[in-house]
Amino acid sequence: MIAPIVRSLSDLRARTKAWQRADETIGVVPTMGALHQGHLSLARAAREKCDRVIVTIFVNPKQFNDPKDLENYPRTEQEDARKLESLGVDLIYVPDPDQIYPDGFATTVSVSGLTDMLCGESRPGHFDGVATVVSKLFLQTSADFAFFGEKDYQQLQVVRRMAADLDIPIAVIGCPTIREEDGLAMSSRNLLLSDRARIKAPVLAEVMNDLREALLAGGRMSDLGPEAEAHLLAAGFNKVDYLELRSGRDLGLLDQAAEDARLFAAAWLAGVRLIDNIGV
Ligand code: AMP
Repeated sequence: MIAPIVRSLSDLRARTKAWQRADETIGVVPTMGALHQGHLSLARAAREKCDRVIVTIFVNPKQFNDPKDLENYPRTEQEDARKLESLGVDLIYVPDPDQIYPDGFATTVSVSGLTDMLCGESRPGHFDGVATVVSKLFLQTSADFAFFGEKDYQQLQVVRRMAADLDIPIAVIGCPTIREEDGLAMSSRNLLLSDRARIKAPVLAEVMNDLREALLAGGRMSDLGPEAEAHLLAAGFNKVDYLELRSGRDLGLLDQAAEDARLFAAAWLAGVRLIDNIGV
C-alpha cells in the first residue's frame, strides 16, 4: 500500500489526533529523502516498535552551510514513496517549505557544547539548523518515538540533548549504520560520487577499521592519526576535515581506546564530503 503524502501541518495534525484518540503510539523517522537502505532500516525499526509510522522528507535549507550543497542535494520524492511502499509506513510528511518556515519565522534552537567540535566546527550553523527543524518535526508530529541513525552520531547526541532540554515527550532511538558491501556507509550524498570516486570511497571505512585495530592494540591517536590521514590523502581524498577519537557520551577528545570511545571522520572526495564513525 502506498502511504499518503501529506504536505500541510493541518492535514498532519488531523491524522495524528485520530491516532492519539485511539491510543496508538506514533514513531517518526526524519529524513531529507533520496532514501536508501539506511533510512529504510529506521522505518523498519519504527514499524516494529510503534502502532503508526511517519517518515518525513524535508531538505532543510537551514542546515546547509554551503548553498551549492543545498542546490545539488538529491531529490527523488516519487522513488522514495515507492521504496516505503512495502514497509507499512502510515504517512509520508513532505511539508511545503512554509509549513516549517512561515513568513517571519525568527526562532533558532541551538544546542551548545556538543556542537563545538567535529561537524559543528567544520560546518558552522549546521546543528542549529538540525536542532531547529527536528524540534519542529517532533512538535508537529507529536510522535512518541523518533528514530535516528548512528551514521550521524553527533547529530543523534545533539537531538537527544535538545529533546531532553526542551521537555519534548519523545524517546530518541539510535539505530546502527547500514553499509554497502564494500564497507562504505550508505548516504544520500554517495549518489553524487563519480564512478571513479565511488571506487575510492570505501578507503575511508578501511582506514578507520585499521585505526581501530591499532588503537585496540594499545596505540595512541597522536601517533596513529597523522599516518591515517596521510593514507586517505594518498588514496585520493582531497581534504580531511577531522579524524578523531572521542567519547561516545560527551564527545570529549581521547588519545587511547577506552570504554565508549568512537572514531569520527569527515573527508572530502571529488567534491563530496563523506562522514563515518565506528565504536572502538
Ligand atoms: P538524512 O536523510 O541524511 O538526513 O538522514 C536521515 C536519517 O537517516 C538520519 O537519522 C541519519 O542518521 C539516518 N541515516 C543516514 N544514513 C544512514 C545509514 N547508512 N545507516 C543508518 N542510518 C542512516
